[in-house]
Amino acid sequence: MNLVVMKFGGTSVEDPAAIARTAAIVAGRVAMGKQPVVVVSAMARVTDQLLRAAGCAAQGDRTGSLAISSRLRSRHRDTACALVKNPAEAAALVTLIDQKFDALDEILRGLAAILELTPRISDLIVSYGERISSRIVAAAFREQGIDAVHIDAREIIVTDSQFQKAVPLDSIIDKRAQEKLLPLVAEGKVPVMGGFIASNEAGITTTLGRGGSDFTGALIGGALNAGAIEIWTDVDGIMTADPRVCPDALRVKVISFEEAAELAYFGAKVLHPATILPAVKKNIPVLVLNSRNAASEGTRIISLAPHCKSPFKSISVKKKLSIIDVVASRMLMTHGYLSQIFAIFDKHRCPVDMVSTSEVSVSLTVDSNDKLPAIAADLGKLADVKYEGKKALICMVGEDIRGQNGIAAQVFNAVRHVNVRMISQGASEINMSFMIEEDDADEAIRSLHAAFFKEPDPAIFDVEARKQLQASSS
Ligand code: ADP
Ligand code: ASP
Ligand code: MG
Repeated sequence: MNLVVMKFGGTSVEDPAAIARTAAIVAGRVAMGKQPVVVVSAMARVTDQLLRAAGCAAQGDRTGSLAISSRLRSRHRDTACALVKNPAEAAALVTLIDQKFDALDEILRGLAAILELTPRISDLIVSYGERISSRIVAAAFREQGIDAVHIDAREIIVTDSQFQKAVPLDSIIDKRAQEKLLPLVAEGKVPVMGGFIASNEAGITTTLGRGGSDFTGALIGGALNAGAIEIWTDVDGIMTADPRVCPDALRVKVISFEEAAELAYFGAKVLHPATILPAVKKNIPVLVLNSRNAASEGTRIISLAPHCKSPFKSISVKKKLSIIDVVASRMLMTHGYLSQIFAIFDKHRCPVDMVSTSEVSVSLTVDSNDKLPAIAADLGKLADVKYEGKKALICMVGEDIRGQNGIAAQVFNAVRHVNVRMISQGASEINMSFMIEEDDADEAIRSLHAAFFKEPDPAIFDVEARKQLQASSS
């Protein structure tokens, strides 16, 4: 199958140089006889800035909000003009960018008058990031000789109406993607669309949640039965730890769907947690690649990874978590108590990450969120409740952790200087996780990395890159 979905993240489209590199990568795939469908994020940091503009407007700071929008308008205009040299194309693109920013400014002015930012308006505001970046990228591709066609992702990715974290409606997406994209691909055209943005069945703009462009790429890949889904980002692939925290992290050459999903769920930002689902359903390999270093082989995520001699493949961390302790003597010998507790989390639509119980108490961890006081109030009707934020969950992923004698002792020895609040091992064969204070997390990751990646298996990890780095620094 020659069809390949290529998703480029914010840093891969952050400025004219990055977009030019991206165009060269796509042109390279076309030259190899591949049929790319391209999904792009907003330019780096644009989503954050749009959210700030929305926040300012909602607090009545109309001037501040419009100033953010004005800076974004200039950045997008400048990028477009640097990339598109054909005067007619450039003028048309700049007019289009201006129209979009005029519409955005209208929304921001309205918001500054009504002072109420709903999730629905927030999604509409942030959608401009991908709506505009995808237009610029499509025009830049045409300038490079790629026969690119812009597609509004909202016409294909249809979701329910849970704004800010909408759930895709797979069968509609499959049908629309096949109807709209396959004929273009068959004609040799390269469809370019924004990630992250979608619409509900009534056509109202929704989004798939932060980092959701990866998910768009996977949904399109699944819908079109692509030969591969490529996630192009700013690191060489899935690494043994976040390279920003652990500079000597190694590239993982190959990893299983299950392991990658676990890492993504537990905080490895390189992949949106839902990305793996559509790929697993159709058994489509996912490749994580670096648009700044296209020669690197990246990470291959497949259904069955080869055996790894090292105990772990990667360490991830999920921050901004809270721990909730529920203590009740009534729990003793009763049944149905846990279900009452979980019913409360269910009522507030709050997912629980980790659970630990004793005779009279239950501790749970959740993402820190503004529903916590209401959840605690409901739990308070059943038991004594305490909750505390600023926690981090460290997750160690590897093959058959359950079957390795003494592994827990090695892990906790490596982090013996930090206070471990909760431990989970055994729920999954491939994951061991524990909760610590957020402030201790980076140090803990570095200690664990030093302990477990001294002699990594060269079949699974890119040890050559480490050797080259050591040789160049000595
Ligand atoms: P994009 O904008 O391309 O989607 P993201 O910023 O969402 O990129 O994800 C890439 C970032 O993920 C990297 O810059 C890196 O700091 C971070 N990251 C966290 N954990 C890992 C890991 N295990 N491997 C690689 N990158 C990781
Ligand atoms: N632009 C969106 C975000 O910043 C989606 C993405 O980049 O994947 O969250
Ligand atoms: Mg991302």
